[in-house]
Amino acid sequence: MAERNSGMIIVLKPNATELEFEQVVESVQQFGYEPRPIRGAEQIVIACIGDERNHHTLESLIVLPQVESVTPIQKKYKLVNRAYQARDTIVDVRGLKVGGDAFHVVAGPCSVETREQTIETAQAVKKLGATMFRGGAFKPRTSPYDFQGLGKAGLELLRAARDATGLPIVTEVMSPQDVDMVAEAADLLQIGARNSQNVPLLAAAAKSGKPILLKRGMSGMVDEWLLAAEYISVNGNNNIILCERGIRTFESACRNTLDLSAVAVAKKETHLPVFVDPSHAAGRADMIIPLARAAVAVGADGLLVEVHPDPARALSDGGQQLKPKQFGQLMAEIRPIVEAMGKQLVVLP
Ligand code: PEP
Ligand code: MN
Repeated sequence: MAERNSGMIIVLKPNATELEFEQVVESVQQFGYEPRPIRGAEQIVIACIGDERNHHTLESLIVLPQVESVTPIQKKYKLVNRAYQARDTIVDVRGLKVGGDAFHVVAGPCSVETREQTIETAQAVKKLGATMFRGGAFKPRTSPYDFQGLGKAGLELLRAARDATGLPIVTEVMSPQDVDMVAEAADLLQIGARNSQNVPLLAAAAKSGKPILLKRGMSGMVDEWLLAAEYISVNGNNNIILCERGIRTFESACRNTLDLSAVAVAKKETHLPVFVDPSHAAGRADMIIPLARAAVAVGADGLLVEVHPDPARALSDGGQQLKPKQFGQLMAEIRPIVEAMGKQLVVLP
């Protein structure tokens, strides 16, 4: 693989002596890399060739007083990097193909609450064009006093929704111990924003063999998000869908700030499908449709939208859930944009 030629660029300070230069060269060799010095008029640059995965990282050489900077030549994520696989990854979710030219809309309530609410919402969103049903059984709530989800009983309701509609189920798993139980019910395992760098969870979810929807952490940088995806991939599971859901910024008009740049960057940097969750980004129902339109236009491969038959009575995230009728409006408004983007809005028979 091309990693053999990856490595680091070390720049020495302008006043570095010949002896200090030799010290750096020696350290680079000791760590198993091949140093290739480039002598400029003012500074020496040392290109270090080797594979970081097999050798000690050279980044620690920054502690040497004669070293100005140590910069990796390539990104740390490899398996999810488009440089290593140009073609789009197509993720299979219970027979549905996600990524490439396909555009999917996943919809459902923040939390599954009752049998009626679950089945009614699943039937409504299916009729309006959703291809998968989302609903939380295990909820990572900010406050311990808020509704925490129905847990195992919620998974039963999700199964019932799949039986009633045939829609694949998307639901969150919060801890490694729950992975087997949740994966039995879910067709697409969601890893939430609060857990997006929980390495044991990423590894356990990967090993379940189920496809994974990986949200971006609310303060996560794009590199960190993609490295979280790399953890899943390195654990043997390449069926990953990334999902941007808004980040923390100074702005408080919306619950979060939808980072459309990150969607464009992720589409360029990786071959994985990228979804957008406008519901958690906006936190308010009146902003969901405009953000959904923008997400399609920036190149997203799908949307994750919260829908509730009666948002005012929702046990979680009531303010941001669309009524079925509003969801129908969203579907109508995104369709021409999906087509203008050269994608196909997937509809089930
Ligand atoms: C959710 O999808 O209901 C959820 C809790 O999302 P996030 O992890 O993005 O906050
Ligand atoms: Mn929610």
